[in-house]
Amino acid sequence: MGSRTLVCTGCGCLCDDVQVDIEGGLPGRIENACARGAAYLRAAFNARRRAGARIRGDACSPEAAIDEAARLLSRARRRLVFGLDSSTQEAQRLAVELAQKLGAVIDGASSFSWGPLIERIVGQDLPSCSLSDVKDKADLLLYWGANPTATHPRHLSRHTYYAYTEFNPAGWYPRVTLASVDVRQTELAAMSKPAFRIKPGGDRGLISGVLGESPADAQAGQLAELVRKSRFCALFCGLGLVQALDGDLDAFTRMVRMPGQSVRMAVIPMIAETNMMGLTRTLHERTSYVNSISFAGDVSGGRQFSFVEQVRQQAADCILVIGSDPFAALPQSLLAQLQGPNVSIICMDHFPTLTADAADVVVPTAVPGVESSGTLVRLDGERVALAEPVKDGPLTQEAALVRLMEKVQP
Ligand code: SF4
Repeated sequence: MGSRTLVCTGCGCLCDDVQVDIEGGLPGRIENACARGAAYLRAAFNARRRAGARIRGDACSPEAAIDEAARLLSRARRRLVFGLDSSTQEAQRLAVELAQKLGAVIDGASSFSWGPLIERIVGQDLPSCSLSDVKDKADLLLYWGANPTATHPRHLSRHTYYAYTEFNPAGWYPRVTLASVDVRQTELAAMSKPAFRIKPGGDRGLISGVLGESPADAQAGQLAELVRKSRFCALFCGLGLVQALDGDLDAFTRMVRMPGQSVRMAVIPMIAETNMMGLTRTLHERTSYVNSISFAGDVSGGRQFSFVEQVRQQAADCILVIGSDPFAALPQSLLAQLQGPNVSIICMDHFPTLTADAADVVVPTAVPGVESSGTLVRLDGERVALAEPVKDGPLTQEAALVRLMEKVQP
């Protein structure tokens, strides 16, 4: 087949310059991908690393798995659709239609991670911008509670620090200040000048010091001065910050707005999932909520419809998990509520996961970007079109959802 250029769906960077030589149906040389992206692509071509169709642990055909999934969903009374944070826009729209048809609850992983920050960005309480806007224009790159060298390996080289084409007079360093706030000494902190080191949970105190709402310590004063002296500060927020603030972003929002017109501020979440931003936007456009939505009767949203609350309250009797692995992310004490005869789990995924291991039915699906095309929304809100598939694979999530939709009885 020769060399093909792909969008890598290995992390939220969605690098669109990855070249893969396909030799005899297998990947040969891979260029431009990081080690994580190359491993992800090679796994997509490795049949032993892929999920297989299963019904209660026994191998079956994908058609039989879809029939059984439809039977379980039709029999259930309180359905929950969860995941979709790495699905294409097209699959997400179909899943929302399925949830509507079934009068189900629908939720994504943002309800226990990025939800509060995304809500503020989507609602335009917090300013944001595209990564292309950042490159060469921002003069301060501030990473807070984020270590892209581990989570988004090409973030710095493709989109920010190393992507700058203007250098300092000596020609050594990009003409931009790289700064970080973190509780740990990370690779990024080692590169940052300055690096603000805070104690776990110290984010709120630093923010209130910058705002002048508590006695400012030296770090708060230095950070406030750094931002005040910049023209355009791109603030990359990690999950460390969002979780330290425990969903209360009022003071953080005030801090971002504090410089007013004198400094352009833009907040970009360091989301690892490839299309969480797309799912939250789709849900917001349709329902005005970014996650945790019920289609039973009138559309309603709220914490009680989050995956965690649904599991805690044992509210769902059939859960369709699409492209997500809550069993790897949430505490076992919570997930133990899902074991037993009163709840069925259906898992649609391309790789084997802990959730697939626990599921009654596994429907294998195509790897987006390798075996299926479509559109994703990158962490900065930019739409990214996937390349045409480079290999045949199982059903796409879209095709599996269409078949499920045809077969289920509300
Ligand atoms: S940074 Fe992410 S999207 Fe880019 S090649 Fe690596 S894994 Fe793939």
